[in-house]
Amino acid sequence: MSWSEQVEQWLGPSVPGPVDRLSVRPGEVTARVGGFEVSLIRAVPDDALWDRVCEALASQEVFRARVLAGELPVPVGRVCTMFGVDLVPRGWDALVATCSCDRWDGVCAHLRAAAAALAAQADRDPFTLTRWAGMDRGALRTRVMAAGRIKGPSVPEETARDNASEAIIEDVTDPSDHAPDSAAAFWSAPSPPGPVDIPSGSGDRIRAAAPGALADELPPFPRPGT
Ligand SMILES: [Zn+2]
Repeated sequence: MSWSEQVEQWLGPSVPGPVDRLSVRPGEVTARVGGFEVSLIRAVPDDALWDRVCEALASQEVFRARVLAGELPVPVGRVCTMFGVDLVPRGWDALVATCSCDRWDGVCAHLRAAAAALAAQADRDPFTLTRWAGMDRGALRTRVMAAGRIKGPSVPEETARDNASEAIIEDVTDPSDHAPDSAAAFWSAPSPPGPVDIPSGSGDRIRAAAPGALADELPPFPRPGT
């Protein structure tokens, strides 16, 4: 799923329209659509939430390398959501959306056209979405780099090795512990060989493989942040 499809999932169906002056700054997207002024205001996550996200990204090589290379693969959005930051707001109710047309109290075609323009922009530059959430490309990169020097949440390797043989038998009772989006499944994903060998989409494959390949055989780890 692309970034634009994520936007359409939560703010769709999009309506193509003449959008001028699409502008994105922390907390607000503004645009002029068909002569009307449109504003999409979202909450900006606080520093503590961003710290958790950046520590999570820094602690997984596949994500750290891509973010430091100036890329924002779609699976990063799922990590952000897991740690409390929705790069794409979960529906119009999560926004304060206004338009200068006389339908400003609903979701008018101008707002939907602005959302469509934002979706297209997010495919060209996904950091549009992080900027809207208060963290532009440079700031995110700097913070992930800094978090990489601090020990983030990670799998305790010795414990995993020591207990693996016993855990296989016992750890089959609650499959919900290892849902693909769970923290346990995420943090037990295997590390990739290195940044230069990572093809696009590898995050999806690792996440898809993790529940069957690893998570079902390892003991449950403490979930980060709990
Ligand atoms: Zn309108």
